[in-house]
Amino acid sequence: MELDWKNLAFGYLKTDYNIRSYFRNGAWTKPELTTDETVTMHMAATCLHYGQEAFEGQKAFRGADGVIRIFRPDENAKRMRASADYLKMAMPPIDMFIDMMKQVVRANERFVPPYGTGASLYIRPVLFGTGAQVGVKPASEYLLIMFVTPVGPYYKEGFNPIKVIVDRDHDRAAPLGTGHIKAGGNYAASLTSAVIGHEKGYPSVLYLDAREKKYIDECGAANFFAIRNGHYITPKSHSVLPSITNMSLQTLAKEMGLTVECRPVAFDELDSFEEAGSCGTAAVISPVGSIYDPENDHTYVFNNGKSGAYCTKLYHRLRAIQYAEEPDTYGWMESI
Ligand SMILES: *Cc1c(COP(=O)(O)O)cnc(C)c1O
Repeated sequence: MELDWKNLAFGYLKTDYNIRSYFRNGAWTKPELTTDETVTMHMAATCLHYGQEAFEGQKAFRGADGVIRIFRPDENAKRMRASADYLKMAMPPIDMFIDMMKQVVRANERFVPPYGTGASLYIRPVLFGTGAQVGVKPASEYLLIMFVTPVGPYYKEGFNPIKVIVDRDHDRAAPLGTGHIKAGGNYAASLTSAVIGHEKGYPSVLYLDAREKKYIDECGAANFFAIRNGHYITPKSHSVLPSITNMSLQTLAKEMGLTVECRPVAFDELDSFEEAGSCGTAAVISPVGSIYDPENDHTYVFNNGKSGAYCTKLYHRLRAIQYAEEPDTYGWMESI
């Protein structure tokens, strides 16, 4: 492959195959690889009208030993099932889901970036209702597709802290809504505030709880965490998406001797945090350098706007496991 591995963007790059399974007549079809990048469906498909759709995001890495591995695919399978269940879609079996991930990575092996480039192969499973329906009710047919695309190292010039702005005028999820599942609708609902944030010069928006605006929910499409006095603190809320990266960082934080607190985190606590970060599959960790609150024109600064020691340590530890540079202590990596 003649790709410029070190300068890949986080965007779609055509690969050789995607894999598909259809849910019809109450059963999933045998997953099949295809080179077709398009989907043909009925114009009354429920995904188009009623947003019956959910997705996942995961990565495959070429390790220091040359072996290709996927990070915690079972967790993505479980989360996809939880999303499907809530949106009343057919739930893909865990084994089929993991097998499809492995097959699509294997079929596109030449797109898995070489070890040492910091790049990886992003895997995007997407599940949606294809059955025609005009009344509001679940479809009887679904399509599960997984495609892959090589993505570059998130940080080209080192590990850069981001600037975040608080948005009190828009919510991405309702208190008892769909924030806890990976529904595309949550993303549609977040675009207005994301665009406003970008226009003001902030790559990410901090969402507060929709009911009282007292607690921290999420940081853009990533989970929020903070470090204070030997504690790793992260919000617990129904409207926070259970991030697999965050779950893994909590395990590593304990390993480093930090105490993990997963609980409602009051916005008022921002002043006391030594480090802050956002986390997710794309970047693992984006250290948060500062958070601007337009309501009182105040900027909360963490670790003088630089990435803190724990953010850095956690980031490197997780990356080292993903690239098989350090032992896979917790059995997170699954070779294809
Ligand atoms: C996907 C996602 C995350 C990150 O989850 P990971 O499993 O760590 O990639 C965080 N918040 C939202 C809203 C998400 O959709």
